[in-house]
Amino acid sequence: MSHTTTSPEEKNAIVGGTLYLVSTPIGNLADLSERAIKVLSEVDFVAAEDTRNTGKLLACLGISRPMLSYYEHNKRERGPQIIQRLLAGDSCALCSDAGTPAISDPGEDLVSLCAQRGIPVTSVPGCCAAITALTLSGLSTARFCFEGFLPVEKSKRRERLEQLTYNTATMILYEAPHKLRATLDDLASTLGVDRPAALCRELTKRNEEIFRTTLGGAIERYKTEAPRGEYVLIVAGGSQSAPTSAERTERMTLSPKEHVAYYESTGLGRMDAIKAAAKERGIPKNELYRQLNLQK
Ligand code: SAM
Repeated sequence: MSHTTTSPEEKNAIVGGTLYLVSTPIGNLADLSERAIKVLSEVDFVAAEDTRNTGKLLACLGISRPMLSYYEHNKRERGPQIIQRLLAGDSCALCSDAGTPAISDPGEDLVSLCAQRGIPVTSVPGCCAAITALTLSGLSTARFCFEGFLPVEKSKRRERLEQLTYNTATMILYEAPHKLRATLDDLASTLGVDRPAALCRELTKRNEEIFRTTLGGAIERYKTEAPRGEYVLIVAGGSQSAPTSAERTERMTLSPKEHVAYYESTGLGRMDAIKAAAKERGIPKNELYRQLNLQK
């Protein structure tokens, strides 16, 4: 079987009017590919999520190319400007802060604009924190879903967590160190403290660490230790898929006590089991408490 479908020379020639998604290292400079260096050296300009970071990278490589910033808070004005330059025939390399552009960064909007305008986009693949963590986690890689950062806004966060309840695929989440504890708490109260997880920290850096544990184990550790560095959380999928309407109907025949016990048996804590049972019965939590007390 041949692994080469395009000659390196052909593939490496910079084509005007093309957007290059250039993956950059997530911690180890040596992970930058030869092709990435060539593209960064030869494009007309580099659009960077963080011009200081990418500027440092280019300086390390002895590369000097015109650079402009493209990040969350200027993407609306900057995106169309980049598109105009691409339409005029310039080539552009897009770099995110680190890793693969368009994964949890505004690169996806630029690619979408290019797709709408028929502008060629090609990839110079390389590091991605999500895949690096997943492959090191020791958890199943057969089916996985990328969740990125959980929403910060309360109701959206709750909704997303609820969607994860019946997720049977391995989950990949990004998190900043100062928010790690809150995210672990929210995940544990939704998925149960016993759910296997791997906390992948400082990947490809000197202090790289893969902490294979459970959500409860991670919570315990970070009660006494401050989370430090960048994290990817890999969480095992659940064993139960979303209930069918027949299963839900059958549960409605359970007594309030049995209904709560059922949810506790799935790994939820008492409070969350009550919340889940109340929701399924279509009654407020307080009403279910009242019924549980009457049943005592
Ligand atoms: N586009 C990037 C990629 O391909 O991985 C991700 C960008 S996202 C804004 C940044 C998040 O990626 C961090 O908050 C952290 O969760 C994760 N991350 C990036 N580098 C990492 C590293 N070396 N170790 C662990 N997590 C990392």
